[in-house]
Amino acid sequence: MKPINDQLDPITATDQQIADALSDADTASIMLCMVHLTGDMGIIRGAVKPIMEFLSPDEGVTEQDRQRILSQALDILKRYRDSPGDLFKPNADELLEMLRFLAGDEMSDEHVEFLTSELSMNGEDPYGQPAIFDVPEEKRQQFDVLVIGAGMSGLLTAIRLKEAGISFQVVEKNEDVGGTWYENRYPGCRVDSANHSYSYSFKPKDWPQHFSQQEILREYFSDTANEFGLREHISFKTEVSEARFDEATGRWQVQIVSDGEVRLISANAVISAVGQLNRPNIPSIPGAASFSGVSFHSARWEHEHDLSGKRIGVIGTGGSAFQFAPILAEQAESMTLFQRTPPWIIPNPDYFEEVPAGVHWLQGHVPFYAKWFRFKVFWRSAEGMLAAARADEGWDRPEESVGEVSQAVRDMFLENLRTELEGRDDLLEKCTPHYPPFAKRMLIDDGKYLRTLRKDNVELITSEIECITPGGVKTSDGVEHQFDVLVYGTGFKASEFLFPMKVYGLGGVELQEQWADDPQAYKGVTVPGFPNLFCTYGPNTNIVVNGSIIFFSECEVRYILGCLALLMEKGGNYLDVKQDVCDEYNRWINEGNAKMAWGQSNVNTWYKNASGKITQNWPGTLIEFWQQTRKANESEYRIG
Ligand code: NAP
Repeated sequence: MKPINDQLDPITATDQQIADALSDADTASIMLCMVHLTGDMGIIRGAVKPIMEFLSPDEGVTEQDRQRILSQALDILKRYRDSPGDLFKPNADELLEMLRFLAGDEMSDEHVEFLTSELSMNGEDPYGQPAIFDVPEEKRQQFDVLVIGAGMSGLLTAIRLKEAGISFQVVEKNEDVGGTWYENRYPGCRVDSANHSYSYSFKPKDWPQHFSQQEILREYFSDTANEFGLREHISFKTEVSEARFDEATGRWQVQIVSDGEVRLISANAVISAVGQLNRPNIPSIPGAASFSGVSFHSARWEHEHDLSGKRIGVIGTGGSAFQFAPILAEQAESMTLFQRTPPWIIPNPDYFEEVPAGVHWLQGHVPFYAKWFRFKVFWRSAEGMLAAARADEGWDRPEESVGEVSQAVRDMFLENLRTELEGRDDLLEKCTPHYPPFAKRMLIDDGKYLRTLRKDNVELITSEIECITPGGVKTSDGVEHQFDVLVYGTGFKASEFLFPMKVYGLGGVELQEQWADDPQAYKGVTVPGFPNLFCTYGPNTNIVVNGSIIFFSECEVRYILGCLALLMEKGGNYLDVKQDVCDEYNRWINEGNAKMAWGQSNVNTWYKNASGKITQNWPGTLIEFWQQTRKANESEYRIG
């Protein structure tokens, strides 16, 4: 695997251009680069120590200190431009000191190991699986895998299988790669995880925005498929309808459908990379079929309709509506939002901002800037907000918070609502959540959504929807709201993992029947009775507070390759996780989730299944998952 590599252009900029770029520098990252350029550890041993605090843009550094640092950096960069010399390579202790400077002194030894690996300073592959390369090449080549899906996780899986020399093919229901970033094309669609960490560890990108738009993400995954030569392995417009495990041969027999034609293929292992949020949820509201205007779901946007001057109704105020509603409001005659539960909003002034020109320049020219900057973004969003989602024992304010930190965060978010909605007490009342922050998916905004709600042509309705009529939507207060267009921003069938595929394991047991609406897997990856079937983004692997889902996928794929290595080494036909191992793991998951905001609250959320159990979320830290997925343990599997 190609390590993260600073492929830098030589510095030819003038003094002024360098100074201009430095004005956009992240203080901690540039200070660490200054160490690399000079070998002077004193730079980070002085009084200036930027801190990473939630919503602390100045990082605790005074303007005077920052200017002094930038002026020192300018001198160092000028010298480096005029006579580029060797870079200082910190030894292990020095690297640790640099890590602590950026990430904080309280890091445990475990964190140091985890973060040193993530930082990948010496070009090591933080999420590679060494065990797979211990398997003789011939055995790897004889093994074959079917990957379902060519979205973020499917492409990653394919890259790792290819790198390991394992035969594989990928089937993808869409016409192209990208998964969620291919399907969701609604106006305003953008990533809401910080982009510098929402990217593969081995494929950093100089992102145009801190939270880039859908087309940029789609391109990134398309480029990935090209760069790693994956397209020739992918059958597009091909869906898996059914998969059956044959115990005698240890192979999966998989029924695929392409252009109406049904074919059977077989593979030693099947890796599902179908995602959690890809089957649109259209609620069964009485009368929906009678609507005489145009209606569609946000993930199936019908771009052929000109929405300008139209009366638009939007059902739902989740992550998708939050992004497209402000854009629709700019063109519509009127826009009416039907809100069932108000979302909590994390204010972030960078949400729509371009990455400043100086940061692009620094990433492209200053040794190690891109590496430290990505690492900082990763670490800032790693465990940062987990404490705010954890419940304090005995805390009893179910409609407000789950603990002291949760309450403090609630107050901060409420203050933002009050500021943005000043003078609109009606909206403030409707938009104030009565459940703890983080109990359902938090939404990010720089104020755009709330400003949209204040517009004259926008109305926020909180009365219950009674039915849909030919002319619009009728609410429980008897009002019939008239629309030309109705947009469903009503989310996805999140808890129906692997839906609508039929998957039959040992003894012909069907997966959905075994799960009976309570999907469980070991580490979210393997399911007892379904040998050689592996899930990415499976049950309880959704992270909602910390990190990026790509980090999770990288850990999962590393673990899957560990399982394959175990199977090949042992020479068995199949590998089946033991029921008691899976049960014990899920007890731990359930206990963990019960202590989190989402496990404590009764609020509606796609984190839960129909019976209210948290089936989606991961309750722990990133480092716990990283450790759990480093290798597959033989004792936890039956090898047949
Ligand atoms: P969502 O978060 O599940 O929101 C669905 C909305 O529809 C909610 O407001 C929900 O109300 C409402 N709703 C559902 N059924 C309804 C009914 N029968 N009557 C009235 N309202 C109903 O779906 P989403 O907005 O598509 O987002 C899904 C997830 O995708 C997000 O949570 C996020 O994880 C992800 N996403 C990510 C990005 C990104 O940038 N990375 C962008 C968009 C979405 P309740 O809240 O009361 O259930």
